[in-house]
Amino acid sequence: MQQHIIIGGGLIGLLTAHYLRQAGQKISVLERGIVGRESSWAGGGILSPLYPWRYTDAITQLASLSQNIYPGLIQQLFDETKIDAQWNRCGLLILDSNEINTAVQWAEQYECALEIIPPARLKKITPNINPSIIPEKTLWLPDIAQIRNPRLIKALTKSLIQKGVTILENTPVSKILVRDGQLNGIIADGQKMHANSVTIACGAWSSQLLKDHPLPKTIKPVRGQMIVFKTVPQLLNTILLLDSHYLIPRLDGRILVGSTLEYVGFDKNKTPEAKTQLYQFATRIFPKLAKYPVEHHWAGLRPGSEAQTPFISQHPNVNGLYINTGHFRNGVVTAPASAQLLAAQILGKIPPVNRKPYTT
Ligand SMILES: Cc1cc2nc3c(=O)[nH]c(=O)nc-3n(C[C@H](O)[C@H](O)[C@H](O)COP(=O)(O)OP(=O)(O)OC[C@H]3O[C@@H](n4cnc5c(N)ncnc54)[C@H](O)[C@@H]3O)c2cc1C
Repeated sequence: MQQHIIIGGGLIGLLTAHYLRQAGQKISVLERGIVGRESSWAGGGILSPLYPWRYTDAITQLASLSQNIYPGLIQQLFDETKIDAQWNRCGLLILDSNEINTAVQWAEQYECALEIIPPARLKKITPNINPSIIPEKTLWLPDIAQIRNPRLIKALTKSLIQKGVTILENTPVSKILVRDGQLNGIIADGQKMHANSVTIACGAWSSQLLKDHPLPKTIKPVRGQMIVFKTVPQLLNTILLLDSHYLIPRLDGRILVGSTLEYVGFDKNKTPEAKTQLYQFATRIFPKLAKYPVEHHWAGLRPGSEAQTPFISQHPNVNGLYINTGHFRNGVVTAPASAQLLAAQILGKIPPVNRKPYTT
């Protein structure tokens, strides 16, 4: 049995650990804080890129594979832990109507269910929408699902611990040791540690840890803020998307509103301006929300990368050092496939998708 270290206890690191453990490997996850409290907790849990036709084939491939994996994964984790991450095929309504032709072509190419629906049908699907913002044509993607990402993290963590994976919290990794192009250990919490492979899954902080061994692309933090209204179940049943902002209804009646896209470095503070902007968006398209309280407002740092394509490969100059990062706005929807792709490379197995697009 080989020993593998994963640095970073977000969704990407934990799922990479999940698939390596499933293959019978010995795993330690090192997290500098508490697992799953960064971007993977802050995210909305939409299991689709927002306007999926705007993305490269590389993103679509990971998203499609993950969309197929998710229902079984959530069921498996529920059976193992009794924690339900609430995979919910709630559908996605896109109210921007200026890219309909491109969207239809994309849906045909990737065999994704997509309908163009008239106002009467939209009102039937979501009766409480503001009638004055209803377009003549709305895009309806009935198969798009969502999950509650904080619960997924809890379920995954419990399942990994049950299977003997070591999870070390409050354990920051400060250095990657390399000799002659070969991984020679890491410094974690001041101690030297060795393993057959080390994976960096540090989200927005990945490039900091790689400063002596930079990747061809830099991972930059991109702040996102969200708010949540506490409403009643069934007020809204599908995800609504307009002008790059969205509403996500949870089964218990909470409605999440997201999100901002801010290039402010590692500043994770939330701002009153963003709260107002999100509130105004939400109550404009769904006026009934004005009757309900905003329960929380939060911010997280996405691992931003060029073309939004993650890096999922062995480091180009360091044998034994692997990277799984840069998932930007799509790190929840692409997580299972990304983790399978990296685990296959570490184990020397055939990857589930061509690895090339994720190596530059
Ligand atoms: C507001 C918002 C909304 C989003 N909505 C969606 C959505 O609806 N759908 C979707 O698919 N994606 C969404 N995303 C994106 C998604 O959340 C991220 O792409 C994904 O969570 C990234 O996961 P990660 O594991 O790479 O990073 P993270 O979850 O940030 O985990 C990285 C971990 O590494 C740890 N770490 C960092 N440095 C070190 C170190 N030196 N030593 C040890 N540990 C370290 C951190 O503490 C952290 O726990 C959203 C993001 C935000 C912020």
